[in-house]
Amino acid sequence: MTDKQLAATSHSPNALAAVEEAIGRACREARRERASVTLIAVSKTFDAGAITPVIEGGQRVFGENRVQEAKTKWPALMSSYPGLTLHLIGPLQSNKAKEAVALFDAIHSVDRPSICQALAKEINSRKKNPQLFVQINTGEEPQKAGIAPQDADAFIAACRDRYGLEISGLMCIPPVDQAPAPHFALTAKIAARNGLKNLSMGMSADFATAIQFGATHVRVGSAIFGHRE
Ligand SMILES: *Cc1c(COP(=O)(O)O)cnc(C)c1O
Repeated sequence: MTDKQLAATSHSPNALAAVEEAIGRACREARRERASVTLIAVSKTFDAGAITPVIEGGQRVFGENRVQEAKTKWPALMSSYPGLTLHLIGPLQSNKAKEAVALFDAIHSVDRPSICQALAKEINSRKKNPQLFVQINTGEEPQKAGIAPQDADAFIAACRDRYGLEISGLMCIPPVDQAPAPHFALTAKIAARNGLKNLSMGMSADFATAIQFGATHVRVGSAIFGHRE
């Protein structure tokens, strides 16, 4: 089954199992351990009624792209189902850093000094220490968040040295109209030269390719939850 056919089977109760199977196959083909890839089920726009069956299907790691939306559904789900992990995969505003650090276990959208400063302040004043990813705008798209590839090394160094942040890895979202592989390769290369182990890359249409290129976190929405309005 191709990734596109896989996306078409979503809505069915077996969608999560089909994604799991495709991840397993991609790992075998890449000679990687299944445990080296974390599946983040991206539940943005879906309500608790749609999310609950996926939790009951065994999924424990979820992603949301808006702090406000996540606040309306996840605190209740988290108290019903202990052991869930929540990742913020969308852009973060500095004035939402406090809420983001309170709610999320990982933040994939660190991309500018003002965010670093706001995160450092919250991380230092709380016990929580979310896993942080620097977002790279590999396609250099003006409308997209992320740091330009040529500025990545200096930015990662500033995150560490100036703001005292522990950076866990890099995240990218390839341009929709381009082959994703070169973007995954570029992200992996920037991570390697900066000593970063984690790579958040790959969505419903391209997670198998991302796994070939070393993704440690794939962010899969529509292939699990179905088409978004
Ligand atoms: C929505 C979203 C995804 C999931 O996209 P699908 O194509 O539905 O799998 C992944 N990453 C980010 C940053 C997103 O906003």
